[in-house]
Amino acid sequence: MLPLLDENFGNPSSIHHVGRKARFFLDASRERIAAVWKCKASEVVFTSGATESINLAICGTARLLKEKGRHLITSAVEHHAVLRAFEYLVNKEGFELTVLPVDAEGRVDPQDLENAILNDTILVSIMAANNETGVIQPVAELGAVCRRSGVCFHTDAVQWFGKEPFENIHQFNANLVSICGHKFYGPKGSGALFIKSPLLPDPLFFGGSHENNRRAGTENLASIAGFVVAVESFLTTPVFDKSSLSPFSIPLSSLDSLEGVTLIGSNSERLINTFCFSFSGLDSLSLLASFDLNGICVSAGSACSSGALNPSHVLSAMGFSNSDANSIVRVSLGRETTKLEISHFLSLFPIVVDQVRGSSI
Ligand code: PLP
Repeated sequence: MLPLLDENFGNPSSIHHVGRKARFFLDASRERIAAVWKCKASEVVFTSGATESINLAICGTARLLKEKGRHLITSAVEHHAVLRAFEYLVNKEGFELTVLPVDAEGRVDPQDLENAILNDTILVSIMAANNETGVIQPVAELGAVCRRSGVCFHTDAVQWFGKEPFENIHQFNANLVSICGHKFYGPKGSGALFIKSPLLPDPLFFGGSHENNRRAGTENLASIAGFVVAVESFLTTPVFDKSSLSPFSIPLSSLDSLEGVTLIGSNSERLINTFCFSFSGLDSLSLLASFDLNGICVSAGSACSSGALNPSHVLSAMGFSNSDANSIVRVSLGRETTKLEISHFLSLFPIVVDQVRGSSI
């Protein structure tokens, strides 16, 4: 990334030799992503991260196809980047939305999706793996339902990349796939959207003809440089290595046996690094603060809503009561997590829970 901020400071749209060098780098970066994804370079659009990729996929596709139909489908457990984009289309642009329910494990039933598709359905968006619970959706099956029905399918695979085995971008059976660099050790504010040709979503930004007319604005080359290296290094061989992280899974899952503690989505396939616990009668923020005072960084639901005391919409959709949906802590492991750190966490866990329980009586 550093040479792109310093030695090679050119703008890829400039005609002079410094600009041409930057253009060469940008084109080569797109080719490198396409080589990992096994798609055409023209199907890769660089973005500022997941939120932008998702908004471009959803709003851009809905606006492009609005003459064909106005019905959209998503699930109740999506990230707010998806839900808020759909809400905007419904409230401001006259689209109709079906929000599919999930089972107690947080999964969408492909049969429910098939039943929900109408003659004027133009777009379905369902995530590959949930950010709060780590629960993995049957995304290829859901994509196949859409393909059979001739409906565009987008998947927010932001949490999935770098954790599950990746073969090629077509394995999701999706027309649009969102990806974000900082979920697998790339730079924050980096990402991309896969857009299967010949789809050409309406742009969100207006200006120059950058990114094959899909995203106006001068490209952030340093961010793209970091993103490309993260994609090349950490997707095909997931950086969240199952063989090194799975020994931690059994002891962490066993915390479920403590009184009042429930591991969410414990009966379904989950991401190897994500554990979501609900603590009966305790609130997320007190637990978070107490873990933090003990030197441990955990989250309440999605990081974006930390600080707000809203119950998790993901747990609510899974059938948990408001108070349980308000008492969750998400524990995420990283590539550097050690056995010693896990033992420390396991010994602290009941102490922290008791402290919070004591202070909330
Ligand atoms: N989608 C999912 C599943 C996420 O987990 C996140 C962020 O945590 C986003 C979308 C939004 O990502 P960003 O804030 O990086 O744009």
